[in-house]
This record gives sequence, C-alpha cells and structure tokens, in this order.
Amino acid sequence: MSSGPDLASLGWGAGWDAAFRPHREAGLTPGRVVVQHRGEWDVFTEEGEVRARVPGRLRHEAASTADLPVVGDWVALEEPRRGRATILAVLPRQTSFSRRAAHDPGSQATREQVVAANVDVVFVTASLADDVNARLLERYLTLAWESGARPVILLTKADLEPDPDRVASEVEAIGGTVPVHAVSARTGLGLDAVRAHVPAGITGALLGPSGVGKSTLVNALVGEERLATGSVAEDGSGRHTTTRRELVLLPGGGIVVDNPGMRELHLWVADEGLEDAFEDIAALAAECRFSDCRHEGEPGCAIEAALADGRLAPERWQSYRDLQRELAELEEKLERRERSRARRGRPGAGSA
Ligand code: GDP
Ligand code: ZN
Repeated sequence: MSSGPDLASLGWGAGWDAAFRPHREAGLTPGRVVVQHRGEWDVFTEEGEVRARVPGRLRHEAASTADLPVVGDWVALEEPRRGRATILAVLPRQTSFSRRAAHDPGSQATREQVVAANVDVVFVTASLADDVNARLLERYLTLAWESGARPVILLTKADLEPDPDRVASEVEAIGGTVPVHAVSARTGLGLDAVRAHVPAGITGALLGPSGVGKSTLVNALVGEERLATGSVAEDGSGRHTTTRRELVLLPGGGIVVDNPGMRELHLWVADEGLEDAFEDIAALAAECRFSDCRHEGEPGCAIEAALADGRLAPERWQSYRDLQRELAELEEKLERRERSRARRGRPGAGSA
C-alpha cells in the first residue's frame, strides 16, 4: 500500500514528531511540501504524493504570505485521499530562506518572501572558471547564516583550475570555520564530499550566481536515479505523476531543494550589493539636481555630465543599467506572484 518514501528519509525526526503531536491527536497526517504551485502544493506523505490546498480560512488568518506553505515545509494534512488533501497547519520552521523587499515603497514594510524552509545545509557556490569574488561570497555566507542553515562552500568547475587546492585554502580564510570543497561535475572530483554533507534525512540547497554549475551538480548527485526517484509519485490509482519536484531525493539518502526561488536569491544578493559595487554611480546620482532624477535628459543631471566628460565610462553605466533592469523585472515577477496568491486568499476563493 505504502508507495511513498518513509518520513525519516524525508528528514522527519524526534523534533518534528514532538511538534506534530497535537495534530496527530487531531487525526491529521504529516507531509513535506515538494512543489509549490499557484494556490496548490504537492506534498510527500508516507502514503504517497498528494495535491493539497489550503482552506480559505487559513489563508485569511495568515498574517502574510510568509505563513503559507513553501517547499521544504512540514505540514499537517486532513484526510489525504485519492491524491488530494487539505493542509490545516504548517509546522514551525527550523530554518528559512527569505528576503524582505527592501526598496518597495508601494507595499507594507513587513512583506517577506520565504522561498524554502527547513534546509539544513546550504552549499554556497562559486566557479573556479572565474576569479572568486570575496565580497559576493561573504554576502552569500551572511544569507546562509541568517537562514539558520549550515553553510558549506563549493568551488565548482575545478577541472578548469590548475590548482584548486590553492584557491580552496585562500577561500577558507574568507569563510572562517566553513568547510570548503573544490568540486567538478565533469570529473566527479569532490562529489563524495558533497554527499557526505547531505546524508539520509538531511536537506541541502544550492546558492550562487547562475552559470556556476548548480543544476549540473544536482544532476551529478542524482545520477541515473533521477527517474527512479520520480516514481515515488505513483499513487494507489496507478496514475503516474510526472510533475517536477523541487525537493529532490538523492539515491544515497539526502534531499536537495532545487527551486526557482532559491535561484532568485542570487539576484537579491546582487541587489544588496548593487550599491556597494557601484559606489561611484551612487555618489554621482546623489549630485543630480532632482532627487528622483532618471538620468534621461533632466536638467542638472550629474550622471549625464560625467558621461559627457569621460568621468563615467559608458560600459560601466550600461552594466549598472542592465543589472538594475534585471532586478526590476524580478521585482515585478515577484509582485505578480504575490498578487495572484493574495487574490486566491480572498474569502470564498478557497476550497473551505
Ligand atoms: P547553474 O545556472 O548554476 O545551474 O549552472 P549550470 O548547471 O546550468 O551550468 C552552467 C554551465 O557550466 C553549463 O554549460 C555546464 O555544462 C557548465 N558546467 C557545469 N559544471 C561544470 C564542471 O564541473 N566543469 C565544467 N568545465 N563545466 C561545468
Ligand atoms: Zn541624473
């Protein structure tokens, strides 16, 4: 009958069991969120995977979307039946990756976006194909510590660096006590060290700029078993669910969160660092006549003056603008997602 993974391999333990006790007494079933859709969640339970909803009442009570389930959350389900269930509670998170929308004047100050919960180990990645950016690495480490998860630094694409050990020992100086491993998905170097950080029941996640090789690394860890792990989605009715999972079970035990939200954290980190990285531009902009200057032909624009007399290189201005636009598009995407979640949260829109 049981076609699902056992709870322990999903990360369940004594602490969760204690937190769940009142829900068990109420006859509810525990499960862990593997994918967040719009207004629906896929949840692993011992009896298999179910598609769950949150009753309108609970959405209404949620002080912010931060209280609604996210990938990695442990939830209490009512009557999982025929692949359907209702989430009645989210267990208090041990760790969470979130981001407060800093410069977002239109919304309330407390807006918080949680992208993944209950991650134990976060792999902060940087590529050995480029020079390691110490400040960026520090920002990632800060984000990792703030989440409550344990950071581990992975220097990817070690096959492209003649002396990965030398770089690793340099990076160790930045990270303090944080373990550092040079890895290569291409040669397999360091993969065992990565696996050792995510034994059965431990949840990991990857953080880092796009292009450093995070997906390739996850695929290397999952290996040929990716399809096999997908088969846990087969439910009693024989229906084969082929949905993508954002909580990936590794063949040797261990779990990896691989979701767009974790990927977007990269841009948030970049956003925080935008001011730092472009101090010259911030200083110039402060001298524009109008505080809301768009630097597009307004009188007294210090940016345009600096561009005209060569104090500001056009390429530098362009890369600032590109990054800013990328961040603005991300903001907009998050806004849309938030609005659509809020809309579904209106009384009457829910299933209960
Ligand atoms: P992500 O954006 O961080 O998920 O990066 P991807 O996994 O998509 O990888 C970006 C690029 O780096 C791809 O072209 C990969 O083939 C390449 N890549 C990934 N891992 C390695 C590696 O270990 N060595 C080398 N040489 N290239 C790699
Ligand atoms: Zn200006």
